[in-house]
Amino acid sequence: MDFAFDARTEELRTRLLAFMDEHVYPAEKTAQEQRALLASPWDTPRIVEDLKAEARSQGLWNLFLPDAGHGAGLSNLQYAPLAEITGRSPQLAPTALNCAAPDTGNMEVLFQFGTDEQKKRWLEPLLAGEIRSAFAMTEPEVASSDATNIETRIVRDGGDYVVNGRKWYISGAMNPDCEIFIVMGKTATADGPDAPDIRRRQSMILVPRDTPGLEVRRAMQVYGYEDHYHGGHAEVVLTDVRVPAENLIGEEGGGFAIAQARLGPGRIHHCMRLIGMAERAIELMCRRAVSRTAFGKPLAQQGVVQNWIADARVTVEQLRLLVLKTAWLMDTVGNRGAHTEIQAIKIATPRAVVGILDQAVQLHGAGGVGQDFPLAELWAAARTLRLADGPDEVHQRSLARREIKRYV
Ligand SMILES: Cc1cc2nc3c(=O)[nH]c(=O)nc-3n(C[C@H](O)[C@H](O)[C@H](O)COP(=O)(O)OP(=O)(O)OC[C@H]3O[C@@H](n4cnc5c(N)ncnc54)[C@H](O)[C@@H]3O)c2cc1C
Repeated sequence: MDFAFDARTEELRTRLLAFMDEHVYPAEKTAQEQRALLASPWDTPRIVEDLKAEARSQGLWNLFLPDAGHGAGLSNLQYAPLAEITGRSPQLAPTALNCAAPDTGNMEVLFQFGTDEQKKRWLEPLLAGEIRSAFAMTEPEVASSDATNIETRIVRDGGDYVVNGRKWYISGAMNPDCEIFIVMGKTATADGPDAPDIRRRQSMILVPRDTPGLEVRRAMQVYGYEDHYHGGHAEVVLTDVRVPAENLIGEEGGGFAIAQARLGPGRIHHCMRLIGMAERAIELMCRRAVSRTAFGKPLAQQGVVQNWIADARVTVEQLRLLVLKTAWLMDTVGNRGAHTEIQAIKIATPRAVVGILDQAVQLHGAGGVGQDFPLAELWAAARTLRLADGPDEVHQRSLARREIKRYV
């Protein structure tokens, strides 16, 4: 039985479920066919733009943004069940609704910390779904789960900043529509010392894609996939990239704090979508189990298969409640007050959903690892979320330290 949400959420859920049935699921095959004919694999299939137009006309647009003026004005608790539904088709549905990462996090940063000029130039076209964006923090040379390691330099030179560094796994950057990068680096004068507080050395700056010196060098793979729908995950090199000082977001040294603010909602959105992925896996498992016979009876009658399905259902129900509790806490006591729960869902959800997807792959036999079912690609996407936005171990360390501190 479904959880009962407030009237507005229920109404949006009903409309979104219909949108998925009528438009998104049928578009999955069409998108694959159109992608095969594109001049570049990084271009966007026509059907994705059609889905965006349809979703927008139906008011299913920018649901992630709590501000009623710019977004749908939903709380985290209201958005959670909607994001879950989009997770059932993660390649198309979040983009169709203009609710896809990393644009959502970037729009939140611009909305919260951007100047009026930055909002006009970059937030407005992002909210309109006219352009895409990327967030560039991780670097191949240093352990980037520790943001204080970041080596990219952002050096003030007169009225400009000059940026030098190398980034990788920058999601979305291969898409030619990705026009703006939020780059995280260390600010310091050319010969000046770093700030004494290691958490006050990082800053974020806006770098337009067409700035001389910015090179999108190559697409990194994810278990062999290139994630075309997400605009890939690029290696990006910045060599003497010069942008006006007005492109800085917030103040010098404020990058660490902005990153923290950005990642709270981003993490819960990923977890909400992961639950939708798990629901899709359970559905596919059940459909396969009743339609395939081995050794004289349907797979659905094998005890081991029943155990997989039952355990998956129990896990999903537990995860959903924890995610909803976290969303409710974020709404009522803020992201800081929900810190432990945000970390808990970030640790628990990808791990559990990877396990469910793995069993769904197993149940599908050889088909499970191939392209005729979405399971292999969903598995790869879920598995990366044990790394992206901070590896499990970093969240475990921080959560455990807070827990232990209560007793010393
Ligand atoms: C598909 C995908 C998309 C991504 N998109 C983006 C993006 O858009 N922008 C961006 O900037 N980055 C992105 N990333 C990068 C991601 O955020 C980083 O991979 C992550 O933060 C870890 O940094 P790292 O890879 O340098 O690993 P490292 O920091 O080198 O860590 C490696 C491992 O060391 C262990 N470890 C680290 N710290 C601790 C600790 N304190 N205790 C115990 N063990 C520890 C963990 O097991 C960890 O996995 C993406 C990654 C993937 C896979």
